[in-house]
Amino acid sequence: MSEGRINIVLAVGDPRPERWTEPLKSLIPDASIEVFTDETPSPAGADYAIVWKPPAALFDQHTSLKAIFCIGAGVDSLLAVPTLPANVPVIRLENAGMAVQMAEYVAHQIIDITRNMGLYREQQGRNTWKAHRPIERAAWPVGVMGLGEIGGRVASVLAQLDYPVNGWSRSMHALDRVKCFAGQADFNAFLSASRILVNTLPLTSDTAGIINAQTINQLMPEAMIINVGRGGHLVENDLLKALAERRVIRATLDVFEEEPLPAEHPFWRDPHVTITPHVAATTLRDETIEQIAGKILALEAGQTVTGIVDRQHSY
Ligand code: NAP
Repeated sequence: MSEGRINIVLAVGDPRPERWTEPLKSLIPDASIEVFTDETPSPAGADYAIVWKPPAALFDQHTSLKAIFCIGAGVDSLLAVPTLPANVPVIRLENAGMAVQMAEYVAHQIIDITRNMGLYREQQGRNTWKAHRPIERAAWPVGVMGLGEIGGRVASVLAQLDYPVNGWSRSMHALDRVKCFAGQADFNAFLSASRILVNTLPLTSDTAGIINAQTINQLMPEAMIINVGRGGHLVENDLLKALAERRVIRATLDVFEEEPLPAEHPFWRDPHVTITPHVAATTLRDETIEQIAGKILALEAGQTVTGIVDRQHSY
């Protein structure tokens, strides 16, 4: 890589990497950017890596990185790359247009059920004009797990819509119109006050399998589960059992243990499950490039940046 410039290696899995390299070059005129793939490993010596599920060889080859930027909010797959250097800061994406997408997705799912929209869709098929009871928001308290960039926005939007909202995080937060709970000590109280459980946690050793039979059984009766975190948060068989018993009356799942969800998976056939293919909040290229370029320039100017992953807690 060239001397005296800001050398960047890019491995984001985009078949058209120029969609990243060109805007990056216009924001960082001094940048020299190489694309790294298993087939075409770039020359060694990059200062910064911008990655999504990068080949392990990248970190063997680029051994003088100053920072590694992840183009997702969740860094679980990046932290699992065995060659990831322990002493280089990993910087995750902070919101960059994802929080609003997630708020929209979760609100849509909740409104669909609380406003009986499924019933009206079904009635329309039978040319039936019949009004049902208006919603009682008090009967649908929502519990949002994770109050970070994404969960904080989700909780605030639902509170704005006058749903009773509980929020749970590792450290205590203060959010307008959201009843906040923190840590293991508050977990049971948080669950038993919630009927709709929304998961926006990062996947870590502390949160893996957190939506399981025990958790579900503490929710209010006729519960609803919305998982937009990671597939590894959910014990799928426990949810299937809870759905069969009508302990859970609806589940909306965007993420799965195995993606794409295998064709034979029972979730596909369950009429009470809504499935989307990991699209609840997608990385928006322009916002992402702008955020990462801004942080590279800040680091080059000796400033501190936010979004550095705490390796001890893995998020
Ligand atoms: P974030 O800003 O780091 O927020 C994480 C939140 O989780 C924080 O409130 C944190 O508590 C809480 N938390 C972490 N570990 C915990 C634990 N053991 N117990 C209780 N709370 C815990 O992350 P984000 O940007 O909101 O993203 C969250 C996750 O959403 C990502 O990691 C990713 O898995 C997922 N995601 C999914 C999609 C999709 O399309 N489905 C898209 C983007 C992101 P503190 O506030 O106390 O630190």
